[in-house]
Amino acid sequence: MHYEDFYRRSIDERDAFWAEQAGAIDWETPPQVICDDSRPPFARWFVGGRTNLCHNAVDRHLAERAGQNALIHVSSETGQERVYSYAELHAEVVRCAAVLESLGVGLGDRVLIYMPMVPEAVFAMLACVRLGAIHSVVFGGFASTSLASRIDDAKPSVVVAADAGSRAGKVLPYKPLLDEAIRLARHAPRHVVLVDRGLAPAPRVDGRDLDYAALCEAQAGKDVPCVWVDATHPSYTLYTSGTTGRPKGVQRDTGGYAVALAASMRHIFCGQAGETFFSTSDIGWVVGHSYIVYGPLLAGMATILYEGLPIRPDPGIWWQLVERYRVTAMFSAPTAVRVLKKQDPSFLTRHDLSSLRALFLAGEPLDEPTARWIGDALGKPVVDNYWQTETGWPVLTLARGLDPRPGKPGSPGVPMYGYDVKLLHEVTGEELTEPHQKGVLAIAGPLPPGCMQTVWGDDARFVDTYWRSFPGRLAYNTFDWGIRDEDGYFFILGRTDDVINVAGHRLGTREIEECIAGHPAVAEVAVVGVADTLKGQAAMAFAVLRDAAAAADAAGRQRLEADLQQHVDARLGAVARPAAVTFVTALPKTRSGKLLRRAIQALCEGRDPGDLTTIEDPSTLRQIQDALAAR
Ligand code: AMP
Repeated sequence: MHYEDFYRRSIDERDAFWAEQAGAIDWETPPQVICDDSRPPFARWFVGGRTNLCHNAVDRHLAERAGQNALIHVSSETGQERVYSYAELHAEVVRCAAVLESLGVGLGDRVLIYMPMVPEAVFAMLACVRLGAIHSVVFGGFASTSLASRIDDAKPSVVVAADAGSRAGKVLPYKPLLDEAIRLARHAPRHVVLVDRGLAPAPRVDGRDLDYAALCEAQAGKDVPCVWVDATHPSYTLYTSGTTGRPKGVQRDTGGYAVALAASMRHIFCGQAGETFFSTSDIGWVVGHSYIVYGPLLAGMATILYEGLPIRPDPGIWWQLVERYRVTAMFSAPTAVRVLKKQDPSFLTRHDLSSLRALFLAGEPLDEPTARWIGDALGKPVVDNYWQTETGWPVLTLARGLDPRPGKPGSPGVPMYGYDVKLLHEVTGEELTEPHQKGVLAIAGPLPPGCMQTVWGDDARFVDTYWRSFPGRLAYNTFDWGIRDEDGYFFILGRTDDVINVAGHRLGTREIEECIAGHPAVAEVAVVGVADTLKGQAAMAFAVLRDAAAAADAAGRQRLEADLQQHVDARLGAVARPAAVTFVTALPKTRSGKLLRRAIQALCEGRDPGDLTTIEDPSTLRQIQDALAAR
């Protein structure tokens, strides 16, 4: 079947299409209603069906592939390498589920996972869904304030954490950040389960903190069956940034997610059971959820969980793993490729990469030179794919299993089956159907299976944030600009809101601003994302001090800049640290007091700041220009 027909059917005969895809997973009770969209924009997929994500990712494979590799953990930080077969993974997950169950975790309870890239993090995720509990993984690079707001939102009964992570050989203790977060949070988790890697001292709070290894020992031999849950039962929440300082808990279901991922492994990533998938992301991000953990395991593949940098111990480390484990599909981000591009290219040719069929890249715009460089160096297809935490799986790409069309430079591709993608006029909401018209990328509801169900605990926020942008039209707003060419290929032109993308990590400028504004020396601050050749974008802060004299000389400015960077590090995490802080005496605003972030961003990128008829005080821009020139 041609992809065009496959796609059309997914839209025109939606329920029949997804009923077929649902056959890719096991159901305890098959669904009765494929899509209940009687209460738009909410969509309930596979209603009446009962299933379990852990059963489909792990238990189901025991009959045929118990001895086959399931989880391959490699840490170039600690030198550890451990391969778990499906039988071993099953045993570990059951043990972890027994531990959580012994602590009272059951159906619908939340478990927050704050872990580096260690196998126990995957065991904990799978153990949660085994029990029908809802996991909420928080990226290990986030610090106490970020963590505290997520604890308060998710209200976990248990937190699973580790003593420390490690980056570039430097131990990053997690426990003090977690302790501080729990101190800051209003909600108190009953227990903290601590995986002790022996990397950093992690003093335990009596009664609250428990040692994972000891708990496992106490539960040895206990069987914990999978709890069948409704297809619509939440499997997890994952926090992502938006335009407010408050992160949104993206809530995902169980059945729809399992079906969507299983289908994507088949049609988009072309992964076969018995093969090895290597996604270089982190379990703290959506790519980690979908394509380190659930997608590959649902497909009966082995998945690599890699802790470390792409260039340590040398820039050949990833390719060495491709060779050693006969990786067939690899998934990474453009930033990582740009890092590799700066290294000796011979590292790419030292290893046997014959098993590799394609490299998938996502998370940020893929620029042509980067795509061309890695494509030529590997001699393999490089497949861009566009999606978001909210969607859970690709919205735009080329479905390699069905679509032989070549990619176009700079374009992630065409709409994936199930996504009724539109370009809408940002003000009128009118559909733009001519080629090369710039509009907001939107998706007509209902969203396909696997996408967010709602914002955790806040249906109104889900509707208001995503579905009310276009007058007279209930369409999901991606907050990305796009155009479509005459062949139907889409091009993404950046965000329409104040979300920035640093090294593939999505950050809200408001969150960083609120954090910096919390520093006693700061009166006001603006944070913008500025084009960066390595990371795509870098965060730049412009601060107005309470006492301007503090930044009167270069030494004072330097000291304050370092202090503010450290302030962000400690509260939000190093990922959010602004690359530079520039001090000014006033920020450019409209007469109604709205911060002109886009004008600041344009100046930072050496562009024309655009229409400034609404600016209150034009001298504020000159000041920024002068300060930038003086840096
Ligand atoms: P996240 O939710 O962290 O995955 O970030 C999603 C955002 O990253 C999207 O809304 C886009 O702005 C950007 N993005 C992700 N993938 C791509 C891509 N392939 N090309 C361009 N932008 C992308």
